[in-house]
Amino acid sequence: MPSSCPKTLQAISGAPGLRGEKVTALSKDGLTAFIQSIISTKFETKEPFYVLDLGVVMALFDKWARNLPMAQPFYAVKCNPNPAFLGTLAALGSSFDCASKAEIDSVLSLGVSPDRIIFANPCKAESHIKYAATVGVNLTTFDSKEELEKIKKWHPKCSLLIRVKAPDDGGARCPLGPKYGALPEEVIPLLQAAQAAGLNVKGVSFHIGSGAMQFQAYREAIAEAKTVFETAAALGMPKLRVLNIGGGFTAGPQFAEAASAVKSALQAYFPNEPDLTVIAEPGRFFAETAFTLATNIIGKRVRGDLREYWINDGIYGSMNCILYDHAVVTCTPLAGTSSCGNPTCKGAKTHNSTVFGPTCDALDTVLKDYPLPELQVNDWLVFPNMGAYTAAAGSNFNGFNTSAILTYLAYSNPV
Ligand code: PLP
Repeated sequence: MPSSCPKTLQAISGAPGLRGEKVTALSKDGLTAFIQSIISTKFETKEPFYVLDLGVVMALFDKWARNLPMAQPFYAVKCNPNPAFLGTLAALGSSFDCASKAEIDSVLSLGVSPDRIIFANPCKAESHIKYAATVGVNLTTFDSKEELEKIKKWHPKCSLLIRVKAPDDGGARCPLGPKYGALPEEVIPLLQAAQAAGLNVKGVSFHIGSGAMQFQAYREAIAEAKTVFETAAALGMPKLRVLNIGGGFTAGPQFAEAASAVKSALQAYFPNEPDLTVIAEPGRFFAETAFTLATNIIGKRVRGDLREYWINDGIYGSMNCILYDHAVVTCTPLAGTSSCGNPTCKGAKTHNSTVFGPTCDALDTVLKDYPLPELQVNDWLVFPNMGAYTAAAGSNFNGFNTSAILTYLAYSNPV
């Protein structure tokens, strides 16, 4: 991993996912103007759309490289599989964490070589394992004997990382420990089973949980991983050389704290190990702040002082993150296109408002008790930070097809 990354659009302009797509350079605060121009030139139908800011992606890649230069990022495709986004990350030098055959396919189709992919799903369908073998994806994770049996049968040359349960879920928004990771007492039997099957265990993997808040969890998990390295040595296995520290990172100011917890734990538990390869599987870190969602107000009802609005994306679409990712979304009226009385809506009187999604389910409620100025049908609401676990898990419910939402590409100068 280089300690700093390319900062110009030219550096990534050949990215396969970007081929043929227009990238609009933004002036300072130009996102609003860009969204306005998309609406005025393309949107008679007023469908919702995303803006992906490639400058944000580049700045984040640079931030990663400066803070965690020892950990090669394998971007977790599940978080947001947008092709232009994947292509940009590939051009910047990221590797990829794929959880399925389809995710492997989408990364390979960008021209990424299979040795830049980890099949980081501890429980895989046999057909997906067979596919990984065919295309040369030769690194995966496991946490059960049954998984080892499948791998032995369909991809015996695959290198393995034993996924251990992180001792602490880091106060995560989405803990993963209840589902994945070998318990301490399961490690020896699993390593022995791999040994007996002649499989190549190369290292240890963990995930402290997505959207983690307490970064001491990295230290405890790295300490646990060290124990597994020692256990493997005591069993006479070839020396483990790979440590996968998973995801759990966010792009805000807490990132420095998380990175420093990782670095100090590596120093404490893996000092003087030049042959150790450290990798990570960040998803949210790269995706969350890079995408902005614009939605149109398609309906309104007034009940006393309460204002109720319907928009054309919701809980069954991009805002599924509210249910599945425990996200709290925010929005602002789009300046210049809103009927709130002045061009920016700043200072306008606000009303207690509810924002509903477009489907007929009452569960499809995006915001409640939210202060918004008086808006009208056809105004636009803009949701920032909508890149992580949003469109990736949206549905087609009631005919509102999440995967049909278009993404426009912008580029703000990385700072
Ligand atoms: N790796 C694995 C195995 C995961 O399950 C996930 C998220 O569920 C990630 C990486 C990405 O995590 P995050 O978005 O917290 O970086």
